[in-house]
Amino acid sequence: MPIVQEPPEKMTFQLSLRRRGISDQAVLRAMEAIPRDVFVEPADRAYAWRDSALGIACGQTISQPFVVAYMTEQLQLQKHHRVLEIGTGSGYQAAILSRLCGHVLSIERYRTLADSARARLEKLGCNNVEVLLGDGFDIPAGAGNFDRIMVTAAMELVPEALTQRLEPGGILIAPVGPHQGTQTLIRLTRTEAGLERKALVDVRFVPALPGIAREL
Ligand code: SAH
Repeated sequence: MPIVQEPPEKMTFQLSLRRRGISDQAVLRAMEAIPRDVFVEPADRAYAWRDSALGIACGQTISQPFVVAYMTEQLQLQKHHRVLEIGTGSGYQAAILSRLCGHVLSIERYRTLADSARARLEKLGCNNVEVLLGDGFDIPAGAGNFDRIMVTAAMELVPEALTQRLEPGGILIAPVGPHQGTQTLIRLTRTEAGLERKALVDVRFVPALPGIAREL
């Protein structure tokens, strides 16, 4: 049998996530199991295991692995959860979520991205993920409510239409702030007393824009 050589950066991948404070074993296992190199542009394969964001089609980005792991950990996922992701992009974050919950609905406004993410997720056997071409600011009424919501594009404000989709006890995490520059990762928890808000860390995401993209 040929010995498959793992890139040295893949070996330090877990270590660097742990060093940066990711401690949830299930999250670490999901990060280990999902091959990030499948989700990056072919020309970037050699950089797939570095802890940095990379460009993908349509001028968008696949997030930095630490941020993916951190946001996932903050959601405190359980196996029965129904999760909504806004901003499918490459599909990488959706693949990580799919290992840790019951069902993921992921919405993307670019058809090209939605189609290629769907194909990758199918190939990897992530069959509890549904990728929808649509607008995260205008979620179909029939989609119902969610135990967890993760927004992976920068929003100036979290719309009430979105927080209304949270089940009691539900958690939403989103980068909130100006489209240009830095945003703050905000965690909202629906409690009996209302929405509890916690500011987590500073991040940089591409903007969340309204409507389905007219370009492919
Ligand atoms: N989670 C992705 C990275 C997200 S990049 C990954 O793992 O690769 C942010 C994505 O959000 C982009 O693909 C962008 O097109 C999408 N987006 C921006 N505004 C949106 C909206 N209103 N509805 C759905 N997707 C949106």
